Amino acid sequence: MSSDVYTEEVVIIGAGIIGLSIAYELCKRGLSVTVLEKEKIGAGSVWASAGMLAPISEAKSEEPDLVDFALYSHSMYRKFIDSVENDSGLNCGFNDTGTLLIAMGKDDEGELKHLYDTQKSRGLDSVWLDQKKIFEIEPNLSGWVTSGLLAKNDYQVNSRDLLIALGKSIIKFGGKIIEKAHVRSLGKLEDKFKSIKYISKSQEVYIKSKQIIICSGAWTNNISDLLFDVDIRPVKGQSIRLNGPNMLKHVIRTSDVYLVSRLNGELVVGGTVEEKGFDNSIQAGSIMDLLRNAWKVFPNIYEYEFCESTVGFRPATLNNLPLIGKTNIDNIFVATGHFRHGVLLAPGTAWAMSKMIIKGEIPDIVKPFGIEKHKVL
Ligand SMILES: Cc1cc2nc3c(=O)[nH]c(=O)nc-3n(C[C@H](O)[C@H](O)[C@H](O)COP(=O)(O)OP(=O)(O)OC[C@H]3O[C@@H](n4cnc5c(N)ncnc54)[C@H](O)[C@@H]3O)c2cc1C
Repeated sequence: MSSDVYTEEVVIIGAGIIGLSIAYELCKRGLSVTVLEKEKIGAGSVWASAGMLAPISEAKSEEPDLVDFALYSHSMYRKFIDSVENDSGLNCGFNDTGTLLIAMGKDDEGELKHLYDTQKSRGLDSVWLDQKKIFEIEPNLSGWVTSGLLAKNDYQVNSRDLLIALGKSIIKFGGKIIEKAHVRSLGKLEDKFKSIKYISKSQEVYIKSKQIIICSGAWTNNISDLLFDVDIRPVKGQSIRLNGPNMLKHVIRTSDVYLVSRLNGELVVGGTVEEKGFDNSIQAGSIMDLLRNAWKVFPNIYEYEFCESTVGFRPATLNNLPLIGKTNIDNIFVATGHFRHGVLLAPGTAWAMSKMIIKGEIPDIVKPFGIEKHKVL
């Protein structure tokens, strides 16, 4: 059985951090928006994410357009969080104490010095610290630490809390989020109102929309036929959550692991980067590596409670750059491929997409990520 339900200005496919950030931006500007989600809010990659907002510690010379966009999105973050917290009445665990990149030996130091030079050449604010200075600001790190780099203006956020706060704000502004609504196909592509078929409670349901935004993360290939020929692949990531006394002020990163400490005692340790398709198994060896590498820099984790291990599938394009812009069909847009930076890039993507939807303008900062810039299959 099937039925046509109602007509919306905008339908967004996928209630991940990208879909909900865009929905929030559009609802706040008065558009009627429905988000369709095949499982539930946060079912995607974002649930495994550590919430690092780290364009400075990740500023590598080889991806200048991405660094520019990351810095731009980062510059919006504080205001974005204030706005979402204000609208939802929920705290998103935003913290601006920065990232401490740790060297444990000569090889690490060489790599970090290269990063430091890149950061300086771009005028970014980072400081080189010797071992003594590191222990002054992080006294609980291990004796293996030799030196490090402090990116003072990196931030972190609790991405799960942010997602829930976005969901609540969207509802407050009159938007709809329909869970267990699996979009199977898009029809009447040339019409003013496109129809979207989704499955809900084993039934086919149709919804019509003037504009559609595809934010379906690593699953995008399943619905992208005809719209664009950019391949999106899942990049598996395993992260773990521990609980214990909050003893780290900064996000700590070594060449093997990162530790993100939250005020509520949660410590997120991550993350593996694996090309294994949609394999959602949790490997003992991966967890062992994460724990051992975390223990090497922060021995106190030995006493922490092990709470959770999570798998996420980061959406990635062939060149690992985001895919943001118009598709081959008028009024159908895409925002995915954010790979390792989706939480960081969410406000920038939402802002850019709202310009495209409301004004028909593609902001210069996202032009390097349009479908024509990506290598085709
Ligand atoms: C271990 C790990 C750590 C990470 N740490 C960070 C970090 O510190 N900072 C950072 O910025 N990023 C981080 N990331 C990356 C970040 O999580 C992703 O870039 C981001 O979540 C991508 O967001 P998204 O909304 O595009 O995709 P997702 O979060 O995957 O959401 C896509 C949604 O679309 C839904 N969907 C798919 N197909 C359909 C369909 N046909 N119909 C309806 N719904 C559909 C899915 O169910 C899902 O809910 C990390 C990722 C991992 C795995």
